[in-house]
Amino acid sequence: MRAEALAIDIGGTKLAAAWIDGTGTVRGHRVVATPAAPAGATDRPWQALRQLIDTALSDRPDQVLGIGIGSAGPIDAERGTVSPVNIPAWRDFPLREHVRSHVSGLSHLGGPDVQLAGDGICATVGEHWIGAGAGSRHMLGVVVSTGVGGGLILDGRLHHGRTANAGHIGHMVVDVNGEPCPCGSVGCVENIASGPSMVRWATANGWAGAPGATARDLFAAAHDGDKVALAAIDRAAQALAAAFVSTAAVCDLDRVVVGGGVAQAGELLFQPIRDWVRRLGGLAFVADLAITPAALDQQAGLIGAAALIHEPDTYVRH
Ligand SMILES: [Zn+2]
Repeated sequence: MRAEALAIDIGGTKLAAAWIDGTGTVRGHRVVATPAAPAGATDRPWQALRQLIDTALSDRPDQVLGIGIGSAGPIDAERGTVSPVNIPAWRDFPLREHVRSHVSGLSHLGGPDVQLAGDGICATVGEHWIGAGAGSRHMLGVVVSTGVGGGLILDGRLHHGRTANAGHIGHMVVDVNGEPCPCGSVGCVENIASGPSMVRWATANGWAGAPGATARDLFAAAHDGDKVALAAIDRAAQALAAAFVSTAAVCDLDRVVVGGGVAQAGELLFQPIRDWVRRLGGLAFVADLAITPAALDQQAGLIGAAALIHEPDTYVRH
């Protein structure tokens, strides 16, 4: 008998769903574009998600163990609501309740278990469950992409914190004299090390990237030896390393797992991060921090969402 969890990943550009079993094997991975919808048009993204769920359910296993949802933030895990920055139609949208009532007919037990967590947390959980963080007891998971997110594993379990936002490394302040960040603070990691932030800094400092240039273009220029592109990446690596060693000093980590679109640049990013960790990491238990590339690529978030259902003792707050 096949028993699987339905994993859902909600982002500003795409919605994804897949069936995932207790070993993390992914089946029936489906992706649709997130419909562009103005503030207030709550139904448009929801219709697209409902269709995606219905398509997945037409291919459902013998037993649906539950539904795990990872969503772009901010989210409120207590209330089950989401307000993704890049989905303006959803502000305090009660996603967990919508999904729960949509699938309530699925089980004679009053509907399957539905769990919701932030996308950075789901990526961390996925990497810890079966990826580059497997077996780690004290791990920081980091996603470097159009934003910078993350999650924290302490004593072998997901650390939730007061509002279930623990591990939000993107808004750790690494430069108290830095530029204002949209979050309201200054000098945040995300405002220096996200892909768009790197491109913005490089452009302001004379990098002649084409209009609409992305982090991918910046890394290509760095690969060809462009000095400003290299400096932008080094500056991002410094900010990331400062956040990593600071977190390690507080939490006594054994490793940091770094994924996300920007991290796919590989050694062009990881080498300067490791150099900066060595320079900024003072105490012995900080200086030997392992910095590991993520192993699950773009599926970490989906796999982590499924782990919320398969391994609740480790990843769900009770
Ligand atoms: Zn910030």
